[in-house]
Amino acid sequence: MSDEVQKAQAAKPVPGPTIFDKIIDKSIPADIIYEDEQCLAFRDINAQAPVHFLVIPKKRIGALSEAEDADEKLLGHLMLVAKKTAAQEKLEKGFRLVINNGPDGAQSVYHLHLHVLGGRQMGWPPG
Ligand code: AMP
Repeated sequence: MSDEVQKAQAAKPVPGPTIFDKIIDKSIPADIIYEDEQCLAFRDINAQAPVHFLVIPKKRIGALSEAEDADEKLLGHLMLVAKKTAAQEKLEKGFRLVINNGPDGAQSVYHLHLHVLGGRQMGWPPG
């Protein structure tokens, strides 16, 4: 089992602030590559590909499974920011979007985030 999966299994899916809130309020540093009033994109600290960044809403949604119908527009916005930022990162040959959800999905930070990975050939099926 990878360190990431072990970390995810130990993570507690409880509501409340996470490290990503501190990135949003700039109380801890991150390599931010895109920001608007609804969301933020920053490089993953433990990159799994030559390009690996996260797109997160500023609104605290613990996991995709906690998103509500009222979040429909915000969720669409996150995907469009993912593809625009992927273009900015020159991922014209393709990229992968991943949303880990809950313990079985190996989610470790309980603030919704889209992983955007690229810059190498991805395999399938994922682990
Ligand atoms: P997940 O396992 O889907 O919950 O992904 C959480 C991701 O957040 C992991 O890929 C971590 O490497 C990443 N991460 C955790 N803390 C930070 C941080 N301070 N800055 C950037 N990425 C982080």
